[in-house]
Amino acid sequence: MDEFNLIDAFFARHQSRRRDVVIGIGDDGAVVQPAAEHELVIATDTMVEGVHFDSTTPPRALGHKIAAVNISDLAAMGAEPSWLTLALTLPRVDRDWLEEFSAGLFEIADYYHCALVGGDTTRGPLTLTVTAQGQLPKGKAISRGKAKPGDWIYVSGDLGDAGLGLAVSQQRVEVASRHLKRVYDKLHYPMPRVALGQALRGIASACIDVSDGLLADLGQILKQSNCAAQVQIDKLPLSLALTETLEAEDALRYALTSGDDYELCFTLPEQHRGQLETRIAHTAIKPVCIGQVVGGDKGKIRLRDGADEWQFAAAVQPGYNHFNDND
Ligand code: ADP
Ligand code: MG
Repeated sequence: MDEFNLIDAFFARHQSRRRDVVIGIGDDGAVVQPAAEHELVIATDTMVEGVHFDSTTPPRALGHKIAAVNISDLAAMGAEPSWLTLALTLPRVDRDWLEEFSAGLFEIADYYHCALVGGDTTRGPLTLTVTAQGQLPKGKAISRGKAKPGDWIYVSGDLGDAGLGLAVSQQRVEVASRHLKRVYDKLHYPMPRVALGQALRGIASACIDVSDGLLADLGQILKQSNCAAQVQIDKLPLSLALTETLEAEDALRYALTSGDDYELCFTLPEQHRGQLETRIAHTAIKPVCIGQVVGGDKGKIRLRDGADEWQFAAAVQPGYNHFNDND
């Protein structure tokens, strides 16, 4: 099977229903028509075998996840996902693998009405790269840099489950069988918080998706906004899978420092709390307030348990960093 048959068989046959795709797969470049008075948001993420996943990861999960993590970046900006391109580097052509991978990718792309409009296919070590483009009314992008002291800090859902899923898949931790599906789904099939991101337009002061761990990602908001924060560990949303599996301190360590959850972490000025509540009242979205932005040392996060300061017994790394010399 050559490159063109492969593209036809697994990627081009699936024609999107979007009418704003003027020219899709098959030409030198894709042509799309952004909506009037909108801006484009563009995000790219790569997953490399041996770095981001291992050879036991189901190909369907890889297809889902490489699309989901990119769409999650768009969600964190408040954008509506629209178009994807896929750069695929494969060690060999394996039809069963491609069947599953493309099914996983289109499942989530279709769910969010996002069209695959192009890509590139080469031979080499297994590497997946997606570029996602989304649209936003002009001036409505939610950046990381505008949080202010006094703003409330929220997360969109349970933290630490994807990290637990990874630990289970690497046989570092065992979970009860009733929790297996949940932790593997959170690791392999994250659902980007697209509806919430859009609901936050015009009211959140900053937003990020939690890919590297809450402390690391909230830290990015704080550094770029020149602020500090207090986080209430007693308010963190933790699943039963996490709390029934780990000791309390370990559960908190997973919730605060393990990556791949793809929940949104955002800051909200006091005067917009009612608007948030109104906008999400008729949805299943239940963001949880976990703390507050404060002045002080840029990027610093103080942990509190109720009214008391709280610290880990042992030092923790705030999150995952590919170029950390200490690794
Ligand atoms: P070019 O030589 O112009 O880069 P290619 O031969 O690489 O073109 O690709 C042919 C067409 O197939 C292009 O429209 C490209 O966008 C699309 N394409 C290639 N690989 C993929 C892929 N993995 N997924 C989706 N579209 C792809
Ligand atoms: Mg090419």
